[in-house]
Amino acid sequence: MPDTDTPDAIDIQLVNDIRSAFEAYLAAYFTRRDPEAVFPFLHESITGFGTGRSESTFKDTTLRELFFRDLQGAPERIDFNVRSLFVRPLPPDSGCVAAEIDISTRIAGQFFSFHDLRMSLLFHRAAGAWQIIHLHVSLPTTEHGETEAYPVKELEERNVALTRLVEERTTQLNAALRQQHELAVTDALTGLYNRRMLDEQLGIENERSQRHQSSFSVLMLDIDHFKSINDRFGHSAGDQFLIKFADLIRVRLRKADLAGRWGGEEFLVVCHGCTLVEATRLAEDIRSTTEAFDFGLGENRTVSIGVAQWAEHDTIATLIERADQGLYRAKQSGRNRVCATDSTS
Ligand code: GH3
Ligand code: MG
Ligand code: MG
Repeated sequence: MPDTDTPDAIDIQLVNDIRSAFEAYLAAYFTRRDPEAVFPFLHESITGFGTGRSESTFKDTTLRELFFRDLQGAPERIDFNVRSLFVRPLPPDSGCVAAEIDISTRIAGQFFSFHDLRMSLLFHRAAGAWQIIHLHVSLPTTEHGETEAYPVKELEERNVALTRLVEERTTQLNAALRQQHELAVTDALTGLYNRRMLDEQLGIENERSQRHQSSFSVLMLDIDHFKSINDRFGHSAGDQFLIKFADLIRVRLRKADLAGRWGGEEFLVVCHGCTLVEATRLAEDIRSTTEAFDFGLGENRTVSIGVAQWAEHDTIATLIERADQGLYRAKQSGRNRVCATDSTS
């Protein structure tokens, strides 16, 4: 009689088949973490599946949903090492597997490992395919006390904690980045925006106006005879003047407006959605307030302002040029005045 016909030989073949099925399952579950690779191993109802006290029988969809959530929740490859493996054949088409394995993985960059994970499975072959009809997984109770943890569930819990940690760190990082951006776009002396931010804002307003056929206006402000403040009272008095003047502008702006230092003692205000008339009104308010303001110099000072409104076919350059022309006319006609330049003039 050939060897394969003896009961022992049949058992050995069966043991090898079950061992192969178990190894294939481990590869699908731990290494590939792929539901499509795992599902063929799942019998329509599996007993014993679950964690400690909540261990029960799961069927069909619920079972697949559980596995799916598990595999998708912690999708990274889990490395495993089989420490011991015992296969008990139950001829003709079943067998028990008892194994002890160590697993380790990385979740969100953090390393996790579990030792002496115990698995007991009952495999059954139907139509040539091996399926699991009973599955139990546990960790040594010394590590987990009364409640045995299903390790992947624990991994998921740790994953949730890590995700929360990452979210907190991200919030902190974003706050730091916002602060850094604030610094990068702020003029150090006056606290208004700097030229870089003004250019950025002009770009945004220009694009928005083109897209929505809306408009905006700009005010170009230049302190009159500012040089004489430096000359007579010193450079630091000049600095103090610029700070006070910036505050004076700031309190007059609406939320949507943006003011910045264009350079030296020149400032630019970008008035979102403003017409030339509205922008001129704001300019006049700033001019008259400046004229009456006590800058602590023992004498009054003034400002000249050019105003322009964005019109179709304008570029940022042509708009600024019109505001500059207004400013030039204001200076030419005696300073301390507001000159608006219409796009048709
Ligand atoms: P105008 O009425 O024609 O505008 O005369 P002005 O004196 O205001 O203009 P001018 O361009 O001749 O002088 C501007 C001065 O502003 C020259 C420069 O030294 C001074 N200035 C530029 N930036 C600063 C600054 O940050 N602090 C101080 N204190 N002075 C500055
Ligand atoms: Mg100037
Ligand atoms: Mg000046």
